[in-house]
Amino acid sequence: MKFASLGSGSEGNSLLVSPAAAEQQRRIVMLDCGFSVKEAERRLARLEVLPGEVAGIIVTHEHGDHIRGVFKFARRYDTPVWLSYGTYQAARADSDGVDVRFCRDDEPFQIAGLTVHPYTVPHDAREPLQYCISSERCKLGVLTDVGHKTERILSALAACDALVLEWNHDSDMLANSSYPYSLKQRIAGPHGHLSNAVAEEILREVDRSRLKLVIAAHLSQQNNRAELVEQRMAHVLQGELIAAEIACQHQGFGWKML
Ligand SMILES: [Zn+2]
Ligand SMILES: [Zn+2]
Repeated sequence: MKFASLGSGSEGNSLLVSPAAAEQQRRIVMLDCGFSVKEAERRLARLEVLPGEVAGIIVTHEHGDHIRGVFKFARRYDTPVWLSYGTYQAARADSDGVDVRFCRDDEPFQIAGLTVHPYTVPHDAREPLQYCISSERCKLGVLTDVGHKTERILSALAACDALVLEWNHDSDMLANSSYPYSLKQRIAGPHGHLSNAVAEEILREVDRSRLKLVIAAHLSQQNNRAELVEQRMAHVLQGELIAAEIACQHQGFGWKML
């Protein structure tokens, strides 16, 4: 299995996952498309993927940085879209002509030979889901846009070979930022985004028995710094043979083989 990112952060998110030796033409699972179709096409080309190779799009929730290009892309390339019923209710106005399929917490389904396993998270959206994607041999866990740590999150992400994990903000930088009070409250609240401290707790507590790679994602460009995240990841992973990287807004990250 391999995976890559088109970009990660509040200006747009999209992740690609593919079975490593896939023969079929449609061999890519796209997780969110928070970019315009034109921008998504440009970023796909950077990773040498044709839009027609996307077998399905799975959507986490209705916020623009995750859903912006989803339905237009799906219409243009005849791509089915999986999402929760709540996310569909929030975003259905744009979904005409799209092959929409519903998914829910703890009901796995298959796309392009991969098993997609949705799980519920606390975030200020109608029915947000995050996903683990696995092949026979390995498991990728994805977690962004989540306000606090839950037992459900820790159990869903147990024994992954790779994790893409939100490290949104440093709590002091957010508190001292020029953001309006209400926005600070929203981001730091129980249905907002993960602080570095809570992301560190999740990484510390999750079952890392198979983990080889962790990628920090959805970093705030205003309220976080890569060095702070790197320090915290290194603190948890010291003495373990686990690689750590940071996904960026503009480049995402290139293909990682599992
Ligand atoms: Zn987001
Ligand atoms: Zn969100």
